[in-house]
Amino acid sequence: MDDKCQICQAIFIPKPYSHNQKYCSKKCNRKAYYYSEKGQIQSKNALKKTMLRYHNDLEFKKRWQEKSHRYRISQKGRETKSKNRKIYRKSINGMLSDLKYAQSPKRKVSLKAYTMSFKGKMNSLRASLKRMAAFNSIIHQFTEYEWINTLNNANGICKDCNTYVGTRKLTLDHIIPISKAHNGQVYTIKDVQPLCLRCNISKRDTINEVCV
Ligand SMILES: [Zn+2]
Ligand SMILES: [Zn+2]
Repeated sequence: MDDKCQICQAIFIPKPYSHNQKYCSKKCNRKAYYYSEKGQIQSKNALKKTMLRYHNDLEFKKRWQEKSHRYRISQKGRETKSKNRKIYRKSINGMLSDLKYAQSPKRKVSLKAYTMSFKGKMNSLRASLKRMAAFNSIIHQFTEYEWINTLNNANGICKDCNTYVGTRKLTLDHIIPISKAHNGQVYTIKDVQPLCLRCNISKRDTINEVCV
């Protein structure tokens, strides 16, 4: 006759020499002991003993810290950490702390610093290129770094009207307008150019390639 393990709910065949076997394996047996009253007291005492030694034995403390550091940077440790963090984020406490952090002045300062930083600017540029491509079903076959390079080479001068407007005011213009592009048209770095906003708007749908 088969039995059901009280810990993992698996069906198991009891060992012939055992009477009243409750758990499928040694592992489940140990788990059951850990959750029992006796097991809880024992593990609490063991933890107390370990913590006492941790605070009094410098050598032990050092070894413990090294061991936990090794675990944290290991594959398993990292996976466990991200798993636990995900669980915490979905819990009520995690949501509340997220909300609290989102409204805190600390968050505002760090967000501002991030958007002003090189990494933040690159990420927002990458996101806007991606959004533009997805919205118009075209493909941008250049990176944000290539575009920044093109911008820097333009020295703040519009390719169309040849006036200086400054690098910050140059906009990305598709030489073949997006409205004339076919579905899935590929734009490489040579198919885009920096234009001032006025030229970009007045260009509208005309194909007006500027010779470089
Ligand atoms: Zn089991
Ligand atoms: Zn212009």
